[in-house]
Amino acid sequence: MAFTRSRGPVPEQLGFDGMPERLFVCTPSKLGAYVDCPRRYRFSYVDRPTPPKGPPWAHNSLGASVHTALKNWYALQLDRRVPGSLPTLLKATWVREGYRDVDQERVAYRAAQGWLESYAAALEPGDEPLGVERVVATKTSVLAFNGRADRIDGRDGEAVIVDYKTGRSGLDADDARGSQALALYAWAAERVFRRPCHRVELHHLPSGTVAAHEHTAESLARQVKRAEETAQDIMAAERAVAGGADADTEFPVNPGSLCSWCDFRKVCPAGQEAPAREPWAAVEHLSS
Ligand code: SF4
Repeated sequence: MAFTRSRGPVPEQLGFDGMPERLFVCTPSKLGAYVDCPRRYRFSYVDRPTPPKGPPWAHNSLGASVHTALKNWYALQLDRRVPGSLPTLLKATWVREGYRDVDQERVAYRAAQGWLESYAAALEPGDEPLGVERVVATKTSVLAFNGRADRIDGRDGEAVIVDYKTGRSGLDADDARGSQALALYAWAAERVFRRPCHRVELHHLPSGTVAAHEHTAESLARQVKRAEETAQDIMAAERAVAGGADADTEFPVNPGSLCSWCDFRKVCPAGQEAPAREPWAAVEHLSS
C-alpha cells in the first residue's frame, strides 16, 4: 500500500530546524528482529552488503507453502473453494528448500495437505474475508508501519486479525495477547478499514486450534507505544553509527537459544555458543 506521510492523522515530530523528522519505516519482523537481538537487526537491515546467511530452513519452506496455498484458495471462485482444491494449489507452489531428502519432503507435503484439508473443511463456506495477505499501513508521530496480515476477517461489524501458524507446538491465549505483530496489525486494520479491530487469532493448522485475544484500545495503545520505543532505540543506534560510534557496541549481541535458528549464526562469534541445527531440524518430528 502506498504511504503518504503528509496525510496522517498524527502530526509529524518537528526536528531542531523545524523540518519534519524522518519516520521509522517498519514491519513487525523488523521490530521483532531488533527486540530479539540488535546484532541480528544490524546484519539484516543495516550492514550492506548483507552478511552471508545460512542455508534455507525447511520449516520456513513448509510455512510459506501452506500460507501460499491458503492465499490462492481464497482467490478461487466460491464454488471451487472446497477442501479438494487444496492439493493442487499446494503442489503448484510447494517450496522444496531445506529438507534433508525427498522422503522427508514427502512426509512434510502429506502433513501440510492434511492440515489444509482439515482447516478448509471447518471454514464457513461463503465467508469472504476483508483481506487475504493484505498489507495494512498507518503511522504515528514516530513510525510508519506496514505489515501483511495473513487474513483479516469481517465479523459482526468488526475486523479480526488471523495469523496462520505451522510450527510444532500449539499456541495459547497468552501467545495471541503478547504478539506485538498481531496488535500492530489490529491497530493498522482499524484505521485502514475504518471499523473496530480488537480480536486477534492465531490459527495453528497442525492441531486445528485457535488461540485468541480481545484487545482493548488501551492494550493496543501500549503495544504501539512499545513499538515506538523500539523504533526510537533503533534510530538512536543508527544515528550513533552514522556519527562514527562503534557498530558492535550500538547493536549488541543477545545470545541465547534463538542463535541456533539465526540465519547469521555462522558470521556471529557469539552465536557459536548455541548448538548448530540442521536446516530440517524443526520438521523432523513430522516423520516420527
Ligand atoms: S547468532 Fe545469536 S547473537 Fe548472533 S546475531 Fe544471531 S541471534 Fe544475535
